[in-house]
Amino acid sequence: LGKRINAAVTDLTRAPTMSEKAFDGMIKEICNALMEADVNIRLVGTLRKAIKSKVKFGELAPHANKRRIIQQAVFEALVDIVNPHEKAWQPKKAKSNVIMFVGLQGAGKTTTCTKLAIYYKARGFKVCLVCADTFRAGAFDQLKQNATKAGIPYYGSLTQTNPVTVASDGVAKFKKERFEIIIVDTSGRHQQENALFAEMVEIQAAVQPQQTVMVLDASIGQAAEAQSRAFKETADFGAIIITKTDGAAAGGGAISAVAATHTPIIFIGTGEHQSDFESFKPESFVKRLLGMGDMSALMEKIQMNNGDQKPTMKNLAEGKFSVRDMRDQIANVSKMGPLSKLAGMMPGGMGGLMQGMDDEEGSMKMKRMIYICDSMTEKELDSDGKIFTEQPARMTRVARGSGTSVREVEELLSQQQMMAGMAKKMKGMGAAGQKGAPGA
Ligand code: GDP
Ligand code: MG
Repeated sequence: LGKRINAAVTDLTRAPTMSEKAFDGMIKEICNALMEADVNIRLVGTLRKAIKSKVKFGELAPHANKRRIIQQAVFEALVDIVNPHEKAWQPKKAKSNVIMFVGLQGAGKTTTCTKLAIYYKARGFKVCLVCADTFRAGAFDQLKQNATKAGIPYYGSLTQTNPVTVASDGVAKFKKERFEIIIVDTSGRHQQENALFAEMVEIQAAVQPQQTVMVLDASIGQAAEAQSRAFKETADFGAIIITKTDGAAAGGGAISAVAATHTPIIFIGTGEHQSDFESFKPESFVKRLLGMGDMSALMEKIQMNNGDQKPTMKNLAEGKFSVRDMRDQIANVSKMGPLSKLAGMMPGGMGGLMQGMDDEEGSMKMKRMIYICDSMTEKELDSDGKIFTEQPARMTRVARGSGTSVREVEELLSQQQMMAGMAKKMKGMGAAGQKGAPGA
């Protein structure tokens, strides 16, 4: 998606004369890309208007950086949709807060309710889980396993087949024991069925949750709107959690769900493990959707995984990013595991470089990049990389020395150049300028 938007913007800005008609054509192209990313068609219409009114093409100064202005407008319009306009519900300490999960089968409810329980446990709440899924065989076992692994008390039944009874028994028991967060996992169906909705309404009436959370699979696509609307109308929910954001789906469905139900996204699931869970950050989410790369999230991860980042951080603070910094980053990233997850956080080029590769191919690619760097001289490593374009023979030498191709060396250097460009920009904006400003 990001690529297509960038391509559309680039076409326009390259055109010798920039007519309003060309501008309209570009907006159309952006809208097509958004629709392909599963953003709902009516919503795209709204976005189109928002972008047009934000950019005010006729009023742009001749030398204005149109590319940046247009990208910023697309970015802001999308952030505006997913940005919750009200403060999210917060559980109260020393009270029983019942949180009920709803969603289709396979959406990720059972996985996510343990993740949420862990989140609150880490914040000092007394948490527990109730399994009200009596529909699917093995549902209770699954919750039991997750809960045990996380050391969280749970309730369920292998014999009671009425989910309403199990839910109310579990909630009553834990309320008596003064648990502060009681999360009720429910069953799903493959499709939105009347039986499912009837069950949700009954459980809701029985346990009187303070908060109902709808769990939505990021890959739901265009069905997101109808599905979230249907749930909203029956089992009214006050928050959304999007799961499987680590997958290949563009995630536009999530945006449609928010717009259709006016309900905020509170967390996102980023993998199958219990720790793959993040607070929802509208700007990061949209940046990833647009393929703009989420430098701040990546930097956070790098810092978390490697204390020894001082040289790069110092360089970045000065608006620099040398070839050696590039090497260090690749080395760190490859230590950090599942590449697929990291690629999305990386600004355009790097994510693109890894696109369509599985983790094994990706880590091979990273290894080759390290070999390339290790065939460079100290002087080359500490350079800003321009030395290679000035003296291309260096690239041939490095390719030969590392057993790679000149093309690969060029690829690595163009990535480093992009990072260097971003470092320079970041410095220009000040560290805080990161926020709200798309990378490239
Ligand atoms: P439920 O039927 O709604 O309870 O869904 P489950 O919690 O059983 O999850 C269905 C599948 O999705 C399981 O294989 C989970 O491991 C997987 N899953 C859940 N959340 C995520 C996520 O954020 N990322 C990935 N990759 N898989 C997830
Ligand atoms: Mg389940």
